[in-house]
Amino acid sequence: MPYIVRVRKEFQSAHFLTDYHGKPEPLHGHTWMIEVFIKADKLDKGGMGYDFVEIDKFLDEILPNYKCMNDIYDFSPSAENLAKYFYYKIKEKYPSLQKVVVWETKYGGAEYYE
Ligand SMILES: [Zn+2]
Repeated sequence: MPYIVRVRKEFQSAHFLTDYHGKPEPLHGHTWMIEVFIKADKLDKGGMGYDFVEIDKFLDEILPNYKCMNDIYDFSPSAENLAKYFYYKIKEKYPSLQKVVVWETKYGGAEYYE
C-alpha cells in the first residue's frame, strides 16, 4: 500500500500577472505556501517514506524567496503556472511526486498533477 508524504513550506515573493483582464497587474507580494505530495511505496526500518527535512532543504534550494518572480521566470507567475513549474522541478529529484499545490493566499491556490 502506498503512502503519500506531504510537506508544506512558506516563501515570500513578489509578482504580477502580465495580463490581468487585459493589462498588467501592479507588482505586489505574498506569503506563498507550497505543498508537495510524494508517493512512497515502502517505508524504511524507522517507518519513514521520505525524510521531511530533506524535502524541506530541497525546497529551500528551488523556492524564489525574497525575489520578484517576474524577473526570474519566463512565464506569468500565476499560482497555476507556478504549480506546474515546481511540479516538473521537484519531479526531477522525486520521480514519485504526485501533485504540487501552490497557495497564493490562505484562500486561493492551484494544483498541478499529470
Ligand atoms: Zn498576487
